[in-house]
Amino acid sequence: MFFKYIFQIIFVVGVSCAIFIIDLPDNRFHAYFLDVGQGDSLLIKTPENKHILIDGGPRNNVSKEIGDTMFFFDRTIDLMVLTHPHADHVSGLISVLKNYDVKRVMATFVLYKSDVYANFLKAVKEEGAEIFVADSETDFDFGSTFVDTIYPFSKINGQTFKDVNDSSVVMRIIYEDKSIFVGGDIGESIEKKIIAKYKNLKSDVLKISHHGSKKSSSDAFLQEIGPKIAIISCSKNNSYGFPTQIVLDRLEKYGIKIYRTDLDGKVEIIF
Ligand SMILES: [Zn+2]
Repeated sequence: MFFKYIFQIIFVVGVSCAIFIIDLPDNRFHAYFLDVGQGDSLLIKTPENKHILIDGGPRNNVSKEIGDTMFFFDRTIDLMVLTHPHADHVSGLISVLKNYDVKRVMATFVLYKSDVYANFLKAVKEEGAEIFVADSETDFDFGSTFVDTIYPFSKINGQTFKDVNDSSVVMRIIYEDKSIFVGGDIGESIEKKIIAKYKNLKSDVLKISHHGSKKSSSDAFLQEIGPKIAIISCSKNNSYGFPTQIVLDRLEKYGIKIYRTDLDGKVEIIF
């Protein structure tokens, strides 16, 4: 009995140490494009151990993905962003709001009729997180890491959109001289507006909009962002045919290295 007890203690300490070493702050910036199936979820860990979660994928499995990535005892999300209300981005966030201490939530708060979006809004209210209505003035400074919101240019809360993909929050996550461009599911017309309004959008990593749909990632946009790496988040054999061959060809044309969650699983970028 005594030996069994000792064994259990050693085992638990051993596992905890292993987790602790894996997640020990290492003075680096980590971006994890989580493997959530047909949807998007990006978890960022700053060198100061601040966590930023952008979208939550289509299911509760995001909580497990986050649990596997964050330090065992760390249950804090410093900033949660919902890019737009479609189920493949919002659904998983509901379980995160229930399982984690979420400090701040940024979203557009557009009008959109769906049960999951209504449940998300309810969960945000219950969480008591600080709420930010997204616009290009709503930025976040986490010391080493800066969340620069680019779009929507002004607040769109309470508005309805014919194509709610085009209401997506677009951001550049900037760490020192490196950056990641994240644009939800925006289509070509919004890409055009963004590159017309801003100079200097150059980013090292681009999260491909709308899972590689042919309606996004136009030539002009890719040239302006000029990424070295593109991440496509989608599931194997999805019914939409994402990513489309036309987008894959375009990325290849510009020599952009492609990583895909359907083929590569969770993709981690370290700066
Ligand atoms: Zn989507």
